[in-house]
Amino acid sequence: MNPFPYSSDNKRYHTLSYRNRTLGFTAFKAVLDAGFTCPNIDGSKGFGGCIYCDAGSGYFSSPPSISVEQQLKSEIDRIRRRKPDARVIAYFQAHTNTYAPVSRLKELYESVLSCEGVCGLAISTRPDALSSSILDYLEALSRETELTVELGLQSVHDHTLKLINRCHSYLDFLHGYQSLKGLGIRVGVHLINGLPEETPDMMIRSAFCIGRLQPDAVKLHLLHVIRGTPLNDLYESGRYEPMTLKNYVDVIVSQLEVLPPQTVIERVTGDADKRTLVAPAWSKDKIRVLGSIDKAMAERETWQGKYYNT
Ligand code: SF4
Repeated sequence: MNPFPYSSDNKRYHTLSYRNRTLGFTAFKAVLDAGFTCPNIDGSKGFGGCIYCDAGSGYFSSPPSISVEQQLKSEIDRIRRRKPDARVIAYFQAHTNTYAPVSRLKELYESVLSCEGVCGLAISTRPDALSSSILDYLEALSRETELTVELGLQSVHDHTLKLINRCHSYLDFLHGYQSLKGLGIRVGVHLINGLPEETPDMMIRSAFCIGRLQPDAVKLHLLHVIRGTPLNDLYESGRYEPMTLKNYVDVIVSQLEVLPPQTVIERVTGDADKRTLVAPAWSKDKIRVLGSIDKAMAERETWQGKYYNT
């Protein structure tokens, strides 16, 4: 028997599909690239971006040259083929999706929200790209629609954030996170496992610190080596070694143990573009990764939040 209360299947963590059940409808994300850039690419914070970044660190079904309206239509068609009555969350994933004047954001988000079937927005951004006028607008938006702001953090360790050229600190993240939560906005946090020079204990520490903040959602990713990135140069020169499947699974299980059971785990691995993925090769088999996590949790007789205490 599964001891985890927020589950209706064999998952011992709080999945998005379980959340969908509690909401009373199924919502899928339509992944969009609205053509933003990033303060870590255009020079306002840094140049070149994070060392693993490939086109905004997303894997998109449509190229950005296609209009957002057309991308959304093709995503809705894809989702409806899978589940005809599904609702759609428009997910602005590529680059920094609050890095523009409020007038542009308003026009973009509101045009998408007016499309049939779209029931909310997920906006992925950096914690240092939330001006007071953007926060005011996001607060107003969150009162009108199902809104989640996803903040990329990746690690709570400033040494690592420097190594990966993140160009913001953990403290910057805390300011952004607290500003959003203070306005009652639903927030998701991204962490990446396997960053250069990080030990498993450091990765688990990142999850522990984020768990203390009680985020609404967390995405746990694996660091992928993508062709053409500075990380690929490190990998090719032998200065970076990706995680093994076993190490990754062990870390994920330990991270889930220290996250609050109410936090929705929106991802326990990432989706890399197989055409540009260099390493690790095992990550291409997502079903095996997910199955290995379920198996390890059952064998360890553990579940999300087992070692979380408020
Ligand atoms: S913050 Fe995101 S979009 Fe910007 S450089 Fe880093 S990974 Fe790329």
